[in-house]
Amino acid sequence: MPNNYKLGSIVIMKKAHPCGENKWEITRLGADIKIKCLGCGRSIMMPRIEFNKKLKKVVGGQNDETKA
Ligand SMILES: [Zn+2]
Repeated sequence: MPNNYKLGSIVIMKKAHPCGENKWEITRLGADIKIKCLGCGRSIMMPRIEFNKKLKKVVGGQNDETKA
């Protein structure tokens, strides 16, 4: 279940950014989701449903409980 993301989570998308980085930080969580590329710092926004489709994995984040 890759859907336990939240604000500040680091996620991996199915498709890497053209800059070569594949890790993104969630900077806005709503009906639309905004993610920032950790490689080049560029942000993109997409509807949550599209984000869910493109999301591959949640790898952690500042607010993350890494115990489970
Ligand atoms: Zn990038």
